[in-house]
Amino acid sequence: MADDYVRRTAITRLSVDGAQRDLLEDTITEWKRGCQIATDLAWGRCNAKSDVQPLAYDPVREDTDLGSQHAILATHQAAQAITGCIERRSKGKKVSKPSFTAPTVKYDTRTMTLFDDDTVSLSTTESRVRCPLDLPDADDGYQRQYLDSDEWSATESTLTARDGEFFLHIGFRRYKNDTERNTAEDGTVLGVDLGIENLAVTSTAYFFSGRELTHDLREFEKVRAGLQQTGTRSAHRTLAQSSGRELRYVRDVLHRASKALIDEALRYDCDVIAFENLTHIRDRTDASWGHKWAFRTLYEQVEYKAEAVGISVKQVGSAYTSKRCSECGFTTDENRPSRNDFRCAKCGSEANADYNAAKNIGMRYVRRGQQSSRRTGESQLALKSGTATPKRGFTTYPDGFEAEFTDKPHPQRAKPSGRAK
Ligand SMILES: [Zn+2]
Repeated sequence: MADDYVRRTAITRLSVDGAQRDLLEDTITEWKRGCQIATDLAWGRCNAKSDVQPLAYDPVREDTDLGSQHAILATHQAAQAITGCIERRSKGKKVSKPSFTAPTVKYDTRTMTLFDDDTVSLSTTESRVRCPLDLPDADDGYQRQYLDSDEWSATESTLTARDGEFFLHIGFRRYKNDTERNTAEDGTVLGVDLGIENLAVTSTAYFFSGRELTHDLREFEKVRAGLQQTGTRSAHRTLAQSSGRELRYVRDVLHRASKALIDEALRYDCDVIAFENLTHIRDRTDASWGHKWAFRTLYEQVEYKAEAVGISVKQVGSAYTSKRCSECGFTTDENRPSRNDFRCAKCGSEANADYNAAKNIGMRYVRRGQQSSRRTGESQLALKSGTATPKRGFTTYPDGFEAEFTDKPHPQRAKPSGRAK
């Protein structure tokens, strides 16, 4: 929803007694009937809330046991369902009149009240019921960050019945802060490691080889060094011309690499691309001045191209990203038996060293978001076959998820030497 709010949903089971159960079930039944009555009246006639409500409100009130506010919400639900049909039809899809069979009922702030003692009061077809939220025992259930916050407030929510239990999907929203109005602060993060052997490796196991850049940089440096020694005026002119050509090769590689990184971020629906701190890359790698310049230029190109597609580019502190195990967090020099290989001395996990570092870099950005008081949202790290957060761990992509190529397939996509998660 494009507005000034960040929205989140917190799902919780409700503890209900027998009488409350009957009332809530009755409310769901009447809600489905109310939505259907409104839809039957408005179908083929109108779809705006402001038209459906005056048309259907009285019939819904007369024919169901819904209270006045729930009757209004039912007419809005009907309006929304019909609008959805019109949109699908405009895309050439077959549509039929909506029928309301799902065991749910909508709530808003006038029909639902959350209390500080973790109970909720819900309107029903008769009196309100007030029942406890059956939250996870641990205090760190993700619901807490919304329930206990002054920033987040409850908004439209949905009650669902399933196997004799009730689940409340509580909608929360808070105002976007100034930064968020311009950039995506939460969301999916692509971690990127830069280096010489591999120019760029992502947390989704995309490898951009560094061979071509190294070759072109060497040629460039050779031309430059040779001509600088000669020191004549014509040599200066040749330097300007040659380095123009050699430099163009270098820039071309960097452009392809930056484009490939943007494509990868788009394929995995990422909102943020995280690099390690650039100053540190230059200290860590025994990079030539040419490589140092190349890293900075690549970063700037990614930043520039990302802005055009609404992706933010960030740098994170890079301490230990190359020595830390991205699987278990164990950090030691011994995790790096050789330049290219990572093998965790604790959990035995093996991976390409740059790929392991890319995952650490992305996860560092995700963690940073959780620690900041201004950024209460949940970011997640994009991996090859799923996403990860520090709290939830690894979640595989839904069945059938295929990251779509935004462009032609990457010729440089190679299998990492370690297992790719
Ligand atoms: Zn490990």
